Amino acid sequence: MNRSVLVTGGNRGLGLTIARTFADAGDRVAVTHRGSGAPAGLLGVKCDVTDGEQVRTAIAEVKDAHGPVEVLVSNAGITDDALLMRMREDQFTRVIDTNLTGAYRVARATVTDMVRLRRGRMIFVSSASGVKGLAGQANYAASKAGLIGLARSLAHELASREITANVIAPGLLDTELTGALNDDQREKLLADVPIGRTARLEEVAATALWLASARAAVVTGQVISVDGGGSLGH
Ligand code: NDP
Repeated sequence: MNRSVLVTGGNRGLGLTIARTFADAGDRVAVTHRGSGAPAGLLGVKCDVTDGEQVRTAIAEVKDAHGPVEVLVSNAGITDDALLMRMREDQFTRVIDTNLTGAYRVARATVTDMVRLRRGRMIFVSSASGVKGLAGQANYAASKAGLIGLARSLAHELASREITANVIAPGLLDTELTGALNDDQREKLLADVPIGRTARLEEVAATALWLASARAAVVTGQVISVDGGGSLGH
């Protein structure tokens, strides 16, 4: 497709699979990293999404190398789980600052060029936890639910410029983020999933590629759950 694509947190995990999927489709793909460097074939820009200055600098670097960002996949995210009774305020605010305010920062830094181009795609990686809530994840679920309000508002604001804003909400995935879960926790998370398995990273990436395609031109403000039906009815 040969578009300028930026995937935050695209140096590993789900973000890397998304980045490679766009690169395989012929796009010019940049990924953010926080010092690890970029995997081969991808342009790496150093960026912590909690730092507005780093975000602006990184997006300027992508623009210099690949042209203005046409597809933004806001994927960088963290967890810091605790039950509310034990959750410190800094645990809450750090997760919101990374997952939600970080997404605002990258959207804010890319929107002007998209408006000028009169085209663009913003895709925010949320979570089934943000749709349904999950015990121990009040901070994470709030940040991921916040992305839905962010995307829906941008969908209204930007529709007239042919820019869409959508959310992908994966269920449990097999990445470092969930590496600490034990078998019992995994079993519980999968118990209510009609299809009975978690999504493969490639299946989530395929959804991002479709949302960024011309075929999804009239899909905006939507939450696409890629979770085996685990959040059906929500
Ligand atoms: P990983 O922990 O494997 O990767 C997280 C990525 O986010 C890394 O690239 C990391 O960069 C980056 N990141 C974290 N904090 C920052 C920051 N402050 N600035 C820039 N980059 C940052 O997680 P996943 O691949 O599993 O998660 C990717 C997304 O998918 C997240 O938004 C997550 O919430 C979401 N998700 C994951 C699910 C799962 O089960 N794994 C389920 C549903 C949603 P670095 O290498 O520098 O740490």
